[in-house]
Amino acid sequence: MRKIIIAIDGYSACGKSTTAIEVAKELGYKYIDSGAMYRAVTYYFLEHLVAITNPKEVDRALQQIKISFMVNKKGDTETFLNGINIEKSIRKMRISEFVSQVSTIKAVRDAMVSQQRKLGKDRGIVMDGRDIGTVVFPEAELKIFLTADILVRAFRRQRELLEREDLVDIDSIIENLQQRDKIDSNRTESPLVKAADAVGIDTTHITIDEQVDEVIRIALTKMIRSIKRPA
Ligand code: C5P
Repeated sequence: MRKIIIAIDGYSACGKSTTAIEVAKELGYKYIDSGAMYRAVTYYFLEHLVAITNPKEVDRALQQIKISFMVNKKGDTETFLNGINIEKSIRKMRISEFVSQVSTIKAVRDAMVSQQRKLGKDRGIVMDGRDIGTVVFPEAELKIFLTADILVRAFRRQRELLEREDLVDIDSIIENLQQRDKIDSNRTESPLVKAADAVGIDTTHITIDEQVDEVIRIALTKMIRSIKRPA
């Protein structure tokens, strides 16, 4: 069967990554977390004190950044920056607090989008983010747009952080999610919007398994429909 591209976009902490990982596993597809790439750039900028208002400094820094992914023994994908595993560091609140600001910079987006397109050139990929269905792969055969109630999202994020031994109070998480939603949705460069041809799924009252099943059901329907029938 012809491999397709699956774009999963939506607000922070709606279960995009968890859904994308499971869907990729089920279909035997590659999974790419585009948010991890913006987090990696933010990590580099903070570590190297890059002045984000200085375009020359930003360009110079971007030339020094090489992001890669590796699957660990448990089967989880981890993010590497210039060969160093930064997976744990990029999930910290310190990064979440700056990432949306860094993601508004056109030079940063151009660099990331070009890498993301290269990663998807062989198709058979599930990529999650904010602009995957609108900008990175507007030709994707399947586009999903996830939403959920802010409280549900905040509690899910708090649990994820706790699993990483990072205890963060719920008010700070809500504030961060709202702040990022606002910046991501209102930026000039590829803002977070639902693609006209995306399927919207509200994940407030459904489990991850139900989310995954629904996306796979739609994906399989698309794949079957794309097979050309003999005349
Ligand atoms: O997906 P995650 O919450 O890890 O993404 C972190 C941030 O990276 C988002 O809040 C957004 O600012 C930025 N991002 C983006 N475009 C993407 C993926 C993430 O601007 N495709």
